[in-house]
Amino acid sequence: MTLEVTLTGTGVPHSAPGRAGPGTLVRAGGVTLQFDAGRGTVLRLADVGVRVGALDALLVTHVHSDHVSAVADLLLTRWVEGRVTGSGPLDVVCPVGATARFLDRVLDPYDEDIALRIAHVGGEPPVVAATSFVAGPEPVRVWAAPGGAVEVSAVAVHHEPAEAVAYRVDSDDGAVVVSGDTRVCAEVEALCVGVDLLVHEACRRTALAGAVAGTVFETIFSYHADTVELGAMAERAGVPHLVLTHLIPAPRDPSEAAGFEEDVRAGGYTGRVTVGEDLASFTFGAH
Ligand SMILES: [Zn+2]
Ligand SMILES: [Zn+2]
Repeated sequence: MTLEVTLTGTGVPHSAPGRAGPGTLVRAGGVTLQFDAGRGTVLRLADVGVRVGALDALLVTHVHSDHVSAVADLLLTRWVEGRVTGSGPLDVVCPVGATARFLDRVLDPYDEDIALRIAHVGGEPPVVAATSFVAGPEPVRVWAAPGGAVEVSAVAVHHEPAEAVAYRVDSDDGAVVVSGDTRVCAEVEALCVGVDLLVHEACRRTALAGAVAGTVFETIFSYHADTVELGAMAERAGVPHLVLTHLIPAPRDPSEAAGFEEDVRAGGYTGRVTVGEDLASFTFGAH
């Protein structure tokens, strides 16, 4: 068995070539888990040979549209393909509150389509099998594979006013934390102890402070993870490999990508850094 982590999207609400919306695929211990479903997620999964019917669970960090805009696509694709593949409802896991309310309604706008398809070829409507949890500063277990070989826990993070969570996957072959959107925070730092990989959102707030002063971007940047602070945090937590995703601003060339790494080095990080690209993949426990 291995733990394999694949970036299904490294983008943000602003569109950028080659960058699908936020998402991270984790395959471990025979289970396949998708974290967030931003624009293009279904196609990115197809790019790596994962049909949505093969997912065991979708875990959502928060309700911001860039993280959920492909949820309906994913559920409807699974439903339509399920007539052939036999895949049933997907476990959907999210924090209580706005995210759970969104997921309860996510297929409502498609009721006409669903009715038409059932009238045409029969079958039952798709079911959103959502489970919501109360997140706090201490990790809570939110999902486990049958037999418990893979477990997912969550903590509340700091992306206020949005209620958001980070997730950690533990398996026999390794552990990974997926930050979702958050400022650099003690909760993620604690969650990272002992992990093999940290997939963290990244914003060049320090480097661009002068350029965005007095603009809306100054406010937007304030609830994202400054790359310099992130480097310091990852070093304190002993993270061996830091993968930057949800890149703000999306790098347009190698030198702009290198700026992200320079920031985390300026923060004191000495481990391995990857500035994320869509479909970048990392494998642990392969022997
Ligand atoms: Zn967000
Ligand atoms: Zn976001």
